[in-house]
Amino acid sequence: MSVYCSDLASLRLGSHPFLFCCGDGGLVVLRPAPLTSRLPASSTASSMTSNSRYRSRAPRADDAEDREYVGFATLPRQLHRKSVKKGFDFTLMVAGEFGLGKSTLVNSLFLTDLYKERKLLNAEERIKQTVEITKHTVDIEEKGVKLKLTIVDVPGFGDAINNTECWTPVTDYINQQFEQYFRDESGLNRKNIQDNRVHCCLYFISPFGQGLRPIDVEFMKALQDKVNVVPLIAKADCLTPSEIKKLKEQVREEIDKYGIKIYQFPDCDSDEDEEIKNQDKGLKESLPFAVIGGNTVVEVRGQRVRGRLYPWGIVEVENPSHCDFGKLRNMLIRTHMHDLKDTTNDCHYENYRAQCIQNMTRAHLHFLHLFPALTTDHNVICKHHSPWRFLSDLICQPVHHQSKRGGAQSRSLMPSHFLFELLSTPTAHLITF
Ligand code: GDP
Repeated sequence: MSVYCSDLASLRLGSHPFLFCCGDGGLVVLRPAPLTSRLPASSTASSMTSNSRYRSRAPRADDAEDREYVGFATLPRQLHRKSVKKGFDFTLMVAGEFGLGKSTLVNSLFLTDLYKERKLLNAEERIKQTVEITKHTVDIEEKGVKLKLTIVDVPGFGDAINNTECWTPVTDYINQQFEQYFRDESGLNRKNIQDNRVHCCLYFISPFGQGLRPIDVEFMKALQDKVNVVPLIAKADCLTPSEIKKLKEQVREEIDKYGIKIYQFPDCDSDEDEEIKNQDKGLKESLPFAVIGGNTVVEVRGQRVRGRLYPWGIVEVENPSHCDFGKLRNMLIRTHMHDLKDTTNDCHYENYRAQCIQNMTRAHLHFLHLFPALTTDHNVICKHHSPWRFLSDLICQPVHHQSKRGGAQSRSLMPSHFLFELLSTPTAHLITF
């Protein structure tokens, strides 16, 4: 399947400062002078014979110097090969009112038909429909680079007559993915963890309003600390260039006014090329991206392009003077996919994890408070090596705890499943017992 993931290999791998792979599969490594020039010939020879992996690598005709090279600067190449073999995954959420062109845009972005089985509901059915989450996964591959793409859709969002708290299923879903990841990470088989955390949420804003609606503000605010929110102006072909400019300014002002935290593009390095700096500036200035979706192939100036055919002309999806579709696609796939994943892991997931650990500690302290007779005796805990070990040992035997109502005289049996929950559940509800 042909998709726009050929530049996946150009993503920065890990946080290694001198590791980059260029789109054609080649590798650009900023490295110090080769160690070979500094090592005696004998040591170089022995390193080479002992390194069978290095010997088995196919020689590259265009890099004779590399063939003789022995040193840690080959690490990036090893990492690159390993990452490409393992494949990449990315989870994208799309949210916004029904009919704003979410499915059309996703299909345009990844040149695939992810919504083949979608059943369109009529107005009556949509009023009754509750907000639910649907997931579509597709494995795509280009130039040997594999990507497992998951699209999370939120049908029914904002369709009801009363939309109070309609974002709760969405925030719950994101939390569940964090919780699953936290459990997997704390479990035994950490090698094959499936990362289903949501890395980015494209939020569709209606082109017909005068800026953000209250539901847009509430939704983005509810999600801002859990996921990277990227706002989009949907169906930009319905607006003239000056209307788009005005709406963008309005949305940016409201984002500032309501203190909404959207995804912040990282600043590019000061020693970066002028071209990259300009690209980066253009990207930041284009927010919210005004997008057009369309999967019809039309002929323009002798070229076949994707667009929307109207009686008065053709709107080209990928034409930068028609909309920001190209910028969004480049940002998502070419330039910022890795940063979106990094931000999810280092910022949003880290916050969730810290909160869980805090709750667990609180639950632990609360437990100690509930069982003062058992736990204030240091010797009891010391005998069990640690408070956690002490608690887990308690699961194996019936325990009596002090009832809140009955005071010190009344004691009831502590069920072992309750204790098990206490020890194994990393979620916030722990503190509510
Ligand atoms: P969803 O319910 O948000 O997934 O919306 P769909 O992708 O199903 O699109 C709803 C309708 O809007 C369809 O008739 C699309 O052809 C149309 N549509 C999608 N994208 C655009 C766009 O960028 N501009 C215009 N004018 N119409 C669009």
